[in-house]
Amino acid sequence: MKSSRSDLTTPVAGSTLAQMLNWAQVRGCPTLDAQLLLAGALQRPRSHLYAEPESVCPDAARDAFMAWIDRRVRGEPLAYITGEREFWSRRLQVTPDVLVPRPETELLVERALALCPPGPAQVLDLGTGSGAVALALAIERPAWRITATDASPAALAVAAGNARTLDVRNCEFVSGSWYEPVPGRRFELIVSNPPYIAPGDPALADPALRHEPQSALVSPPDGLTALREIIVGARGHLVAGGALALEHGNDQGPAVAEMLVRAGFSHVRSHADLAGHPRVTEARMPQ
Ligand code: GLN
Repeated sequence: MKSSRSDLTTPVAGSTLAQMLNWAQVRGCPTLDAQLLLAGALQRPRSHLYAEPESVCPDAARDAFMAWIDRRVRGEPLAYITGEREFWSRRLQVTPDVLVPRPETELLVERALALCPPGPAQVLDLGTGSGAVALALAIERPAWRITATDASPAALAVAAGNARTLDVRNCEFVSGSWYEPVPGRRFELIVSNPPYIAPGDPALADPALRHEPQSALVSPPDGLTALREIIVGARGHLVAGGALALEHGNDQGPAVAEMLVRAGFSHVRSHADLAGHPRVTEARMPQ
């Protein structure tokens, strides 16, 4: 008979699902992550783990699960291990070439939807990464034409793949830094979740962030350079009355608002995320 020691040491052939989960937790993997990874390894819904905790884990699923738990406890984001993350109720493919979409970025989508009427409009998403924001907007507003840029061709490939999977046709992806791929074009709405962390910020010590593309997270030297470039460039790429919405760090609201006012924008306003942190600041180009 298996002793309970198999819960603590390497799972053996014949281990049950409950024992596999217990082993993962003892190794320091959060319960929900362990459940999601075991369900993924078994290619069953998570409810299966509750329905049949005493069923034996097949060898192939056990091997996959153990390798994944190993990666997870070393800090790799769950989304890179499973290759997907939900954003705005859609499943997106993600790779280490793109930032893992964050729940707080849904606030950027909400503000963008509120800032521009649902009729035909040209919309620009700068630094699209996985395409999370651009695709959410494209799906919510079929009449909008979204242009999404990114300096990373690898990220654009991920975004374009997501557009295909979600059957999004009103979004184009173009390669280049910020406004570089759209010279002379003007938009009704510009959105961006740019890199905004300063080098040396203690937040970067988080093991999850160390697995993400630094170019999507860090903006030297002060965390505000990308935001500044986007704000300055927006003057030449918005129509009169057009709107700009930017995600930023939880202590950057006043600095972003000040840059917008100094650049001549009106209707400058910051919005708090679900954690209560100012996370998105918006503004309008004067008429
Ligand atoms: N919100 C992310 C974080 O703090 C950073 C994303 C970004 O820099 N755009 O982990």
